[in-house]
Amino acid sequence: MKKKILVTGGAGFIGSHLCEKLLSMGHEVICLDNFFTGQKENIIHLIDNPFFELIRHDVTMPFFIEVDEIYNLACPASPVHYQHNAIKTIKTSVMGSVNMLGLAKRIKAKILQASTSEVYGIPDISPQPESYWGNVNPIGPRSCYDEGKRCAESLFINYHIQNNVKIKILRIFNTYGPRMHPNDGRVVSNFIVQAIQNKDITIYGDGSQTRSFCFVDDLVDGMIKFMDTPNDVIGPANIGNPEEYRIIDLAKKIIDITNSSSKLVYMPLPQDDPSQRKPDITLVKQLIHWQPTTKLIDGLNKTISYFHKTLKT
Ligand code: NAD
Ligand code: UDP
Repeated sequence: MKKKILVTGGAGFIGSHLCEKLLSMGHEVICLDNFFTGQKENIIHLIDNPFFELIRHDVTMPFFIEVDEIYNLACPASPVHYQHNAIKTIKTSVMGSVNMLGLAKRIKAKILQASTSEVYGIPDISPQPESYWGNVNPIGPRSCYDEGKRCAESLFINYHIQNNVKIKILRIFNTYGPRMHPNDGRVVSNFIVQAIQNKDITIYGDGSQTRSFCFVDDLVDGMIKFMDTPNDVIGPANIGNPEEYRIIDLAKKIIDITNSSSKLVYMPLPQDDPSQRKPDITLVKQLIHWQPTTKLIDGLNKTISYFHKTLKT
């Protein structure tokens, strides 16, 4: 069935892939974005599609439209971007969720929240299951993002309980792929850009901290499947790739694949940087029979080709 779907943050990295996939499935897509971190280049290839609409709007302000589904992705996601204006980041998560949940309530649309593994903070257990409540510093530099997203989860669950809004909460773990912003400071984009320009690779701390990297196509596939689950499936559910890598090993891998002459340099570890992160994806596997299929090497190669093209190296 053809649906009308609103994607907030649709001009961003994940949002642009989601818009593209939903259009390819025959749906009508409305992309809403204030272009804080999103770029027109990410969606320019969709502009001529008569079933695609682009609206410049800030989710902290109310917005009205008739749609069947809402994917709420609007929020800067990289530490550099979300710490740039911490108060605005909190407002985007909190007021953006209030506005989108209010809209969903009014028009009886289903709404999915792009939550994050950051709700677990610096975890005491690994891998992290959904039942773990997290270990977040409420006043640290990451709190604007972590607590904003935690408050958004609370808003979602309470709109569901109090107002019967059809909600879905996905806790997304580190995702990478083409259309990551080259200057957003995230580890995969930083290391690839540094490696293809033969510049020093910046390892924060000793590089022993871990992350688990999911290719964007796998994630988008899981997000759409989760949105399509029956109304009693609400989450929160983890989504990501449970293969865990040390940051130093990721750096070496990228130097190797790009045949780079870059050297590793060590810089201070940012405050409250989680020492490990690995999703327990048992729940999402059961619910939507999903698991990531893209191998890190294949996803990295696609991302490297993208950066070669955009940076013209
Ligand atoms: P991104 O920065 O590329 O995309 C975010 C988009 O939201 C951008 O297009 C930006 O312009 C837009 N935006 C920001 N504030 C807005 C506002 N006030 N009003 C309207 N639009 C606004 O980041 P991404 O990696 O594509 O992340 C998308 C979503 O997924 C975010 O909510 C993020 O928290 C979540 N997430 C991403 C990851 C990841 O690894 N990429 C991990 C966990 C969660
Ligand atoms: N990191 C790094 N060098 C960089 C960028 C990031 O060593 O140039 C580290 C960072 O300290 C963190 C990990 O890589 O431990 C992932 O960082 P990212 O900003 O991509 O995401 P997040 O910390 O939100 O998972």
